[in-house]
Amino acid sequence: MAARHALQPASKMVTATFRFYEELNDFLPPERRRREFSVPCAKAATTKHMIEALGVPHTEVELILVNGESVGLDRLLRDNDRIAVYPQFEAFDVTPLLRLREQPLRTPRFVADAHLGGLARLLRMAGFDTRYDNGYRDNEVADIAGTEGRIVLTRDRELLKLRRITHGCYVRALKPAQQLHEILDRLDLERSIRPFSLCLVCNAPLRSVDKATVMETLPPAVQASHQRFTTCDVCHRVFWEGSHWRRMRETLAAAGARAVAPPPDDEFVISDHVAETARPRSHTAAPPAAAPANSQSGLKAASPAAPPPPKRSR
Ligand SMILES: [Zn+2]
Repeated sequence: MAARHALQPASKMVTATFRFYEELNDFLPPERRRREFSVPCAKAATTKHMIEALGVPHTEVELILVNGESVGLDRLLRDNDRIAVYPQFEAFDVTPLLRLREQPLRTPRFVADAHLGGLARLLRMAGFDTRYDNGYRDNEVADIAGTEGRIVLTRDRELLKLRRITHGCYVRALKPAQQLHEILDRLDLERSIRPFSLCLVCNAPLRSVDKATVMETLPPAVQASHQRFTTCDVCHRVFWEGSHWRRMRETLAAAGARAVAPPPDDEFVISDHVAETARPRSHTAAPPAAAPANSQSGLKAASPAAPPPPKRSR
């Protein structure tokens, strides 16, 4: 659509000069990065049309200046316009100029596209409400973002070009831990981290639960060695602090999450990988076949084994 505008006959064209800033240059061919360049545009082309025709999703853009004045996405381009385009969340130092959005999304909530399951999990681990399903189609992602006020996370720039998506982040990194670091850094979220406050599976809040009330669901070793437990009211898994907990904490720390301090004693924080959770009794599997014959203790009936952990993609 935008490309069609750019290919109109010359008589219907104007020429505008563009300059893109910071990481928006990643979307441009090398010869157009970090410098002014002039392009022909259809007279009816808007800033949004041309910016996207040049390869930059509008969701990546926070501020557009035309001839030094802040404009919206629907500004019609005129001959000899000079357009400066700044990336989202990088434009704060050019305030108090008007921004494109009336209001930024102050409570960061996300919807991750179907390819970002690893990142979605890490975001939940850090306490950020993140919708994700590996069956999501682009339209569903856009719908969820619009109706729930969520920031779209994707590595698909075409998805971000959908008009109804107003807030989105193009994720550059390839590995989940690096992606988490990128998002925390880019949106300045380090101070908002609430580790282990959400169920990694359901994205629902975890709440503390008395050991006595979950005792029957716990493996014997956990009954003996752990005191603090949380549960998810959606999947009814019970979580406790285990070796995965430490590894996840290290992952958060490696992602630049300086705010991740050890929990105070009176705060239950414990959440963990499915391998270290117990499902509710109604969902529990039989004890593993390898269970020792002498496990016929009073604990046995009260200690259904957690199912083997599913293999997780990284
Ligand atoms: Zn859950």
